[in-house]
Amino acid sequence: MCNVETIGLPASDNCLGCSACVAACARGALNLEQDERGFYRPAVDDGLCVGCGACSRACPVVGSPTSRHRPLKTMAAWDKDRGRRLAATSGGMFMLLADAFVRQGGWVCGAVMNEDMIVEHIVSNDIDVIAKMRGSKYVQSRIDAALSDCLDLLKRGERVLFSGTSCQVDAMRRLARGRLSANLMTVDVLCHGAPSPRVWGDYVSYREREAGSKAVSARFRKKDPSWTVFSLEMLFENGDRRSWCTVDDYYLRAFLGDYITQNACHSCPYTGTDRLSDITLADFWGYVSESRADRNTEDGISLVLVNSDAGMGLLKSVDGVHLIDKELGEAVKGNPPLRTVFPANGRSDEFWADYEKGGFDSVLDEYLGPRASSKKHQLSLWFNDHAYFFPGPLRRALVSARGGK
Ligand SMILES: Cc1cc2nc3c(=O)[nH]c(=O)nc-3n(C[C@H](O)[C@H](O)[C@H](O)COP(=O)(O)OP(=O)(O)OC[C@H]3O[C@@H](n4cnc5c(N)ncnc54)[C@H](O)[C@@H]3O)c2cc1C
Repeated sequence: MCNVETIGLPASDNCLGCSACVAACARGALNLEQDERGFYRPAVDDGLCVGCGACSRACPVVGSPTSRHRPLKTMAAWDKDRGRRLAATSGGMFMLLADAFVRQGGWVCGAVMNEDMIVEHIVSNDIDVIAKMRGSKYVQSRIDAALSDCLDLLKRGERVLFSGTSCQVDAMRRLARGRLSANLMTVDVLCHGAPSPRVWGDYVSYREREAGSKAVSARFRKKDPSWTVFSLEMLFENGDRRSWCTVDDYYLRAFLGDYITQNACHSCPYTGTDRLSDITLADFWGYVSESRADRNTEDGISLVLVNSDAGMGLLKSVDGVHLIDKELGEAVKGNPPLRTVFPANGRSDEFWADYEKGGFDSVLDEYLGPRASSKKHQLSLWFNDHAYFFPGPLRRALVSARGGK
């Protein structure tokens, strides 16, 4: 094995872990490994590498940039079916788009959590399998095999709807150039950073020890008590079902506290309103109900940015969706990744130094202790759901006095 920098790939600290390089190598000279913090990174077998440069050309960090577009339309949206909406992270738009795409004869690629509690991308045209892609898994997803599977499908003339974070979408787009791109539709989920699979694995083991049983599934953001409270629920082999939220959960606090995001995400090149996918999905944070019919924020609301005519065509083919036109500025105000990168926590170097010395248990009390949400934050959430009650000019004045999310 030799250092990937010698073949033109970025150093581990600058790598996004998107795996474009691995899927681009026709000789199988690159494999995915995990670095000491658990992030997915390429490793090169110098016995197989011929230095052709296909990997660095596919790399979003060192290759030439992919074209981006200002959104054609900004919308708030949700699935009219309450059960399906509650099963998703935001308003359930991903599943509605996937369903429409499969009905048109296509395949869908997205992230699932497998039975070993590892997050990975898979591709399928079976709606029951695709349903496992529903819901955010706040862990960096392993994606190398799925990229190759999508490429094979595109080469066979199949249509593929690829979903993932912006860097993963960029990887897919770079691999499917030229005629292959005609059958590729992309959806990016707005992302403020990919958290470490090592920390996730250690966290799962911690909860298993606590429960005295193996974890069989986990679900982030169960919307219990509400969409705006980040929660995590785990089911164990012995039938135990346990859940935590930002106030008392170590993993959520590590993720939302920006301790466990890979370094390259802190200078994410996809930040901003110019998007590279056909459709961008996110939480519509800061959504304000303008009428009684448009309230009910607690079940979750998707932000939908339609970035291309193809994306608009797919959205129009979706059944059972509640759509509300919005201004891009409103979305930007509530959603930081549309305007700025998330810096690492000021104590993240200390955190990792302690983690490497003492493991997961050693950082819990010092960095990840419980913290309740502020009264101001709770009041702001109440206002979002009841804003329609205030007359228009007062509502607008209150929104602007409040500022962002
Ligand atoms: C790591 C991460 C960070 C995020 N950060 C933000 C944020 O800061 N602000 C914001 O508004 N939204 C963020 N999101 C997106 C948000 O959580 C929802 O995924 C999005 O709003 C879509 O919700 P939905 O209800 O339409 O569909 P859902 O059914 O909830 O979404 C499923 C989609 O998410 C994809 N997905 C799930 N887990 C992963 C993963 N680990 N890696 C790649 N893709 C994944 C699936 O492939 C599928 O496309 C983030 C998502 C992830 C995975």
